[in-house]
Order: sequence, then C-alpha cells, then structure tokens
Amino acid sequence: MKRRALVIGGSIGGLFAANALRGIGWDVTVFERVEDDLASRGAGIGTHEELRAVIQRLGLTVDETIGVWVHTRVCLERDGRVSHRLATSQLQSSWARVYRLLKDAFPAADYRFGMALERIEQDAGGVTAIFADGTRCRGDLLVGADGVHSTARGLLLPEAQPRYAGYVAWRGLVDEATFPPADREIFECYSMCFPEGEMMLSYPVPGRGNDTRPGRRAYNHIWYRPTDFHEALPRLCTDASGRCHGISIPPPLIRPEITARIKAEARELLAPQIAAIVERTEQIFFQSVFDLESPRMALGRVALLGDAAFVARPHVGAGVTKAALDAECLAREIQAAGGDLDTALACYERERRLFGARIVARARRLGAYIEAQLKPPSERTEADRQPPPEYLMREIGTINLDIRALTAPG
Ligand SMILES: Cc1cc2nc3c(=O)[nH]c(=O)nc-3n(C[C@H](O)[C@H](O)[C@H](O)COP(=O)(O)OP(=O)(O)OC[C@H]3O[C@@H](n4cnc5c(N)ncnc54)[C@H](O)[C@@H]3O)c2cc1C
Repeated sequence: MKRRALVIGGSIGGLFAANALRGIGWDVTVFERVEDDLASRGAGIGTHEELRAVIQRLGLTVDETIGVWVHTRVCLERDGRVSHRLATSQLQSSWARVYRLLKDAFPAADYRFGMALERIEQDAGGVTAIFADGTRCRGDLLVGADGVHSTARGLLLPEAQPRYAGYVAWRGLVDEATFPPADREIFECYSMCFPEGEMMLSYPVPGRGNDTRPGRRAYNHIWYRPTDFHEALPRLCTDASGRCHGISIPPPLIRPEITARIKAEARELLAPQIAAIVERTEQIFFQSVFDLESPRMALGRVALLGDAAFVARPHVGAGVTKAALDAECLAREIQAAGGDLDTALACYERERRLFGARIVARARRLGAYIEAQLKPPSERTEADRQPPPEYLMREIGTINLDIRALTAPG
C-alpha cells in the first residue's frame, strides 16, 4: 500500500516537498490555511543554480521564462554616480513564477485550501493532523512546511521562536514600461545603494503574468531599514483606524502617511534613479526580518522543512533554494532508507540542520551592521561595522559555491 504524507503549508516549501514525495511514489495531500490561490503573493527572488537543478530533477521545465538574467551589479552613490561595477550573472525570478510551476505540477484535487492545522497526534503507527474545522487526517509522515510562524513547530518545539533582527525590508515592484529612456541601463543591472546603516537592492524580475519579455518585465526593490521593535514597528503596523496588527500589516492597510514618508526618505538617502523607482511604486509594503533556528528538524513522524525549520535573513537570498534542497533531501533519504522512516528522518535532520545553521549564521553576519544601528555607537563592535560596498556587492545573494560547501559533509 502507498505511504501517505500530509504536507502542512502549500507555499513553495510545501509544494517542493509534495512534488518530491509524489515523485518517489507516496500519496501526498497538501493542506494550506489560506482560502485561495497564493499566486498574487510575494515579490522578486534571486535564484541559484542549485534551485534550478532541483526543479529539473523534479521533471519540470526550466527555460528562459523562469526569470530574467542580470549580468552586472552596480553600486550607486547618493548623487547617482556608479561607484563600483561587478560582472556577475544571476537569474532573478519571482515568487509567483516558482509557485505556479510547482502548483501546476501537483494534482489540484490533492491540494486543499482553507485547512489550518491546529493539533498533531502521533503514535507508533503514524501521525494524525487535526484541523481548525475539526477534520482529522492520518498519514505515515507529516511535513511541517508552514513557514516562519509554523504551527507544527510551535506544537513540537515551542521554545524555537523567530528572533526579530531589528530591521524591516521595504519592498515593491515597478513595471519596466514606466522606466524613462535615461534609466534603461539601471533596469538591466542589479543596483545597490548603501546609505549609512542601511541597504537598498533592486533588480529586474518577471513582470505581470510572469512575463520575461523585454518591455514587460518589472523591477523589484528591497530596502532594509533599522526599525525598533517596541515603538517604530508597532507604529508601522497600525492602520488608519488605529488598530495595530502585530508585527506585520496587510499592504493595503499601510497608512498613506507612512508610504509618503518612505518615498521622501528615499529622495533624501538614495541615488535619484532609485528614489524615482520607489516614488513610482504603487504598493510599497514591508516584511520584518527574522532569524530562526530549530534545534530539531525531525520529531517522531514529523519533519520540519523550509522556513518552518530555519529562516536566514534575506541577504543570502536563499529561502526558496533552501526549501527546495530540504524537500529533495527528505525524499532522497526516505528512498535510500527503503521506507525506514526513523533512519530516513535521522539522516534528513543531520544533513539539513547543519546547512540551516550555517546559512543563518552567514546571513546574520551580512546584516549585522543594519541590526547594530539600534545600539548606541559606543556599544558597537568590530562585527557591527558596515562592510565596504565591494564586499557586499560580491556577497549579497550569491551563495552558489557556499551551498556546495555547506552541503559537503563535516
Ligand atoms: C524580504 C524577503 C526577501 C526574500 N528574498 C528571497 C530571495 O531573493 N530568494 C529566496 O530564495 N527567498 C527569498 N525570501 C524567502 C522566501 O520567501 C521563503 O523562504 C520561501 O517562501 C520559503 O517558503 P516556505 O514554504 O518554507 O514558507 P512560507 O512561504 O512562509 O509558506 C508557509 C505556508 O504555510 C501556510 N500555513 C501557515 N500556518 C499554517 C497552518 N497552521 N495550517 C496550514 N497552513 C499553514 C501559510 O499560509 C503559507 O502558505 C525572502 C524573504 C523575505 C522576507
């Protein structure tokens, strides 16, 4: 009889796991808390060779429509001059494009929206997931791919909590068609600005409908800004009616005066070409930046995967790639262990926990100077010093070699 996996979370990590486990002959059902398609979510993401390789090994097509190649990185000064230039190639895609590829490859009937996991029961024979509507589903394995605020992790490892990094990422997308001829060169580049204690990155990605044709692409920007947890963050998360939504807020509820202030500060601090892009952004939104390290990735018949297990700050641009590698490793170990789940999960945890811990540490080092802005200058250490632009330009989002090194044993 086919073995059954219950995948909790139908985002990118859950879909990688679902497709990989289906690929080794398992019967898989995905349970997603949100009521309808997630494709309108997300923004641009950097990809790595390893991500494209996992997608290909799943039997899915990776052609030029997966993203937009960028071959040059530039650092722009406050006055708009290019101060540094670096030749390096990276394929920039979008969250929605990768999601759509994985979602379309998985049978729609086995993907259930509006199912929020609430409890887990385990015994020697398997695992039962209990959902908010009272539904109970039994399987041989439960994959917790339910993101940074994972219910599965919260139930099994309540002590493993995400830690706010001290800054937020302001994000947005602008259509290529809005770029004036004078800014064409910028559009083709991965641009970086480094105001003191901050970091602004922008690069081309697929446009509306995941279109990668010239003229129809989009430009994605991410601006990391120190934001105090106790005062500034709650202020950002408070809507026009005075309600504070916690540590995040739905983008349309961000107050107009906050958006206006961000645009004004962009004019003050960023290169004029980049400030103009921020100005033209219809919906600016922000995400708080977290570190998360789980002490375990496998507990009984539950495997944690993707952001539910480890969250590295986005400077390594590796969340999607990490989730893909976790999923592939899980399926590979299950197959290698001939169905012996205890052995498979122990091997999975050994390999992926090491990877997760190292990548979190690397991303933390890259963002340490932004976090340090909230400390009085007298308390800042050498590790808090802002690295030179050449270093950041080389290191940000480029982890191909590191992934291989991290994957190697030892
Ligand atoms: C500013 C920023 C920039 C980023 N840039 C990049 C980049 O360039 N490259 C890159 O690879 N990654 C990037 N990432 C990271 C990337 O978005 C995530 O790592 C990736 O989506 C991992 O997905 P996941 O499936 O593990 O978790 P998530 O995408 O968070 O998905 C979790 C899913 O579980 C569902 N869920 C939650 N609770 C329950 C429940 N109780 N029951 C059922 N379902 C539930 C949620 O609705 C959600 O759909 C970035 C992230 C941020 C914040």
